[in-house]
Amino acid sequence: MNVILLGPPGAGKGTQSEILESRFGMKQLSTGDMLRAEVAADTPLGRQAKEIMDRGELISDQIIIEMISNRIEQPDCAKGVIFDGFPRTEEQAQKLDEMLAERGQKLDAVIELVVDEDAILARILNRAQEAIDAGQQPRKDDNEQSFRTRMEEYRKKTAPIVGYYKTQGKLECVDGMQDIDKVSSQVADIIEGKGHAPSVACSGA
Ligand code: AMP
Repeated sequence: MNVILLGPPGAGKGTQSEILESRFGMKQLSTGDMLRAEVAADTPLGRQAKEIMDRGELISDQIIIEMISNRIEQPDCAKGVIFDGFPRTEEQAQKLDEMLAERGQKLDAVIELVVDEDAILARILNRAQEAIDAGQQPRKDDNEQSFRTRMEEYRKKTAPIVGYYKTQGKLECVDGMQDIDKVSSQVADIIEGKGHAPSVACSGA
């Protein structure tokens, strides 16, 4: 099974992907985590991506598509993938459909976590504070200014793909402001094909 979790920064995509990974054995692929690993390892790609990420802007489609295309070939993706933070543009969404089709696969579900913008800024600031409290470095883009840019990028470039998947009949929406357990049980119901009474309207689709 291949599933996309969609939603703005701070929607809970990472948290939910980890829960799904342990429950269903699919592999979580977070393009943000992959890029942060490149930055930490100081690779040429990491050096190229760092400032763009810190500002909250998007990395080029070409780089991201190549990264994902190589990654989904790996044996740990054989049981399927939970895409977290990818695709983020229509170009990426179309390329993902092509990549999966070439491998005789398809997307099984696209689940949008619908959230409230003011609440997610608070979540992001909280995530930064928790890292500091734990003696770790917070993410460079977990601050109000980068958050605003990330939201703007989301609205401009990522939100339109909600419509792309709605047209394909694959879009499901879950209220991402509920408790983590409630969100994950609704997400799991969708993946298991049980569906759920929609508790929230999809954003703008
Ligand atoms: P995330 O961890 O998903 O919030 O991603 C952190 C940052 O990595 C984003 O703000 C972008 O700069 C970059 N990034 C992650 N995934 C993508 C993607 N699919 N397309 C373009 N840029 C991305």
